Amino acid sequence: MKIYNTLSKKKEEFEPHEPGKVSMYVCGPTVYNLIHIGNARPMIVFDTVRRYMEYKGWQVNYVSNFTDVDDKIIKKAQEEGVEPSVISERYIEECKKDMKALNVKTATVHPKATQEIDGMLHMIETLLKKGHAYVAEDGTVYFKTRSFREYGKLSHKNLDDLRGGNRSLLVSGEDQKEDPLDFVLWKPKKEGEPYWESPWCEGRPGWHIECSVMSKKYLGDEIDIHAGGEDLIFPHHENEIAQSEAANGKTFARYWMHNGFLNIDNKKMSKSEGNFFTVRDIGEKYDLQVLRFFMLSAHYRSPLNFSAELMEAARNGYERIVTSVSNLNYLSERAQGEAPVGEEEKLLREAEGYVRKFEAAMEDDFNTADAVSAIFELVKFANTHASEESSRAFIRALKEEIIKLSDICGLIVEKADEILDSEIEQLIEERQAARKAKNFARADEIRSLLSDRGILLEDTREGVKWKRA
Ligand code: AMP
Ligand code: ZN
Repeated sequence: MKIYNTLSKKKEEFEPHEPGKVSMYVCGPTVYNLIHIGNARPMIVFDTVRRYMEYKGWQVNYVSNFTDVDDKIIKKAQEEGVEPSVISERYIEECKKDMKALNVKTATVHPKATQEIDGMLHMIETLLKKGHAYVAEDGTVYFKTRSFREYGKLSHKNLDDLRGGNRSLLVSGEDQKEDPLDFVLWKPKKEGEPYWESPWCEGRPGWHIECSVMSKKYLGDEIDIHAGGEDLIFPHHENEIAQSEAANGKTFARYWMHNGFLNIDNKKMSKSEGNFFTVRDIGEKYDLQVLRFFMLSAHYRSPLNFSAELMEAARNGYERIVTSVSNLNYLSERAQGEAPVGEEEKLLREAEGYVRKFEAAMEDDFNTADAVSAIFELVKFANTHASEESSRAFIRALKEEIIKLSDICGLIVEKADEILDSEIEQLIEERQAARKAKNFARADEIRSLLSDRGILLEDTREGVKWKRA
């Protein structure tokens, strides 16, 4: 299996350090708001990586944190007049709901920064002892960036370029630093902020230290994969490497994986820019499986531009698989013979070819776009060859293959009694036609039929809008 490693800028053969066991850390969200669909991209992408590895029979130890102490959380808490933990706990719960709706598996551990302060104090102490950190007059503890010779190896930046050239890359703002490249490990509290006791001052941790500490605690000094969005390469992941490798004296992570941005109008979707849709916004309009399908229709390292057209295409693609599975269910109820014979056995071997194609795409740095194409080919194959004359076992085998591959992508394609987006829209059209023909009884009937299935209609000036309740 090949993975593109940001560290070497190459696709490398991936072997877990311990055969059959993968340790993986994915930087999680800062919880002060509902997550937007940009935040959902790494969740979906790395959940798919995990699912594929589990399909290979590997045991994946998957850790993803919640950053629950941060300026933005504190600000929001002050605005609402509540404790910061009220805000962070609220949005952790909301985030978990979104993850569930996106069919993102729960991590092996979801640590929270505020629960790991002891570990942070301990690592900072080690860094001070080893001469990689220093305490400024006001009690701020800084990492001495130049003391870590390999600084810049992940982002492929040179220390001197960082210093002399692009000042916007500097982590600046604190004037007691010995060097502008140094970054905060611990900082003094400000009035009204949450704080913890420490040997240096009452204060709170800098952002980067939490991931170094949680990764060490739950996965050990050396892990297989560390991942997150590409905006984290510098400075966050660069700083994590410096802290962990300076403190532990071991290679922190062997493979670094980064997803490309989800853009809107070719600009990064972000909370601070205000150009974002929350997962909830999208969930009102679409089945969230469509969003998951949309994310997987591009390679995880490519930028992906969000648009209504691409979401429509994703909806069609996703529904093509769902419809095929539902059709196979229908046929299997009507099938006569039990066991596949002759021609059917040959066809099933042919169908295996699509599974191999799917695997080959995933083994090549998780090319989910090609993997999804392989599912489509299998769907087309099933639609062509399964009929009421087929044996039940043949139909079921095809259905199970489609479900198996979809499940690796985290896509739920067998729906118990769920109504598809396209069916809803067809019914809405029919209702409009009934109204036009003044057949209000039928129009009302359609409205209540939809409402029974949890679909709410709203008549607006721009036409009928609908959402899932
Ligand atoms: P944050 O809450 O900003 O720390 O982000 C949590 C995770 O979402 C990180 O891995 C970010 O890199 C990722 N992320 C944030 N915005 C986007 C985006 N527009 N596209 C892709 N990933 C993003
Ligand atoms: Zn992190």
